[in-house]
Amino acid sequence: MDKTKRSAVIAGNWKMNMTPSQTGAFIKELAPKVAGLDGCKVVLCVPYVDIAAAVEAAKGTNIEIGAENVHWAEKGAYTGEISGAMLSECGVKYVIVGHSERRQYFGETDVTVNERVKAGLSNGLKVILCVGETLTEREQGVTYETVARQTKIALLGVSADELKNVIIAYEPVWAIGTGKTATAEQAEEVCAQIRGVIADIYCEACAEATTIQYGGSMNAKNAAELLSMKNIDGGLIGGASLKSDDFTVIVKAAQ
Ligand code: PEP
Repeated sequence: MDKTKRSAVIAGNWKMNMTPSQTGAFIKELAPKVAGLDGCKVVLCVPYVDIAAAVEAAKGTNIEIGAENVHWAEKGAYTGEISGAMLSECGVKYVIVGHSERRQYFGETDVTVNERVKAGLSNGLKVILCVGETLTEREQGVTYETVARQTKIALLGVSADELKNVIIAYEPVWAIGTGKTATAEQAEEVCAQIRGVIADIYCEACAEATTIQYGGSMNAKNAAELLSMKNIDGGLIGGASLKSDDFTVIVKAAQ
């Protein structure tokens, strides 16, 4: 299948940035800049407290709103957590799961990532599943083993039909927030390997239909080259998603 048949998705990951009032102002500034750019989906994944403001400001625009995590339980004694049902009732359409900052700082494991993926899907959310190797793993030559393991465990119990609502974000940990981008060739190589893992678990056609993003210091300058690669269908953007002009350039590069 040719790449143009897959959905291109450019998603911002705001991390712990922006207040609700800043959120509304940012989306009002961004919306006219990305209006009519229909060659890719435009998503902003925002902190929980910004969701209401984001959904309101994005009404009538081509910007969709996502969250940065979801808990695996429907409800219960999980202080500080948010369920898929809560997100979807608030108008959230996407959720990031397994971001390396969650794995690194908050004890997220392959198993909890799998639980969260299933919770997102069963609540009708599109899941942006993050996988990626650390610098040590790359230096040890186990990049493939790492992303293959993360992908396989995260997708345990996910049907081929549900896979249609999964986007995989290849995010080398050493490239996130560091200004060190993977070269287009490095990113393409691993994205192609991840597509191979999907083909092994599901089928060739399932793999060909899966959107795979690159994330890790993607910016206005390097986006076009990264997005021109055969297996890179979009981007998960941290720092550059906080600047409307830079984010717009990346959205345009994905057209
Ligand atoms: C991210 O947080 O997913 C990310 C890719 O961050 P940055 O673009 O800032 O490296």
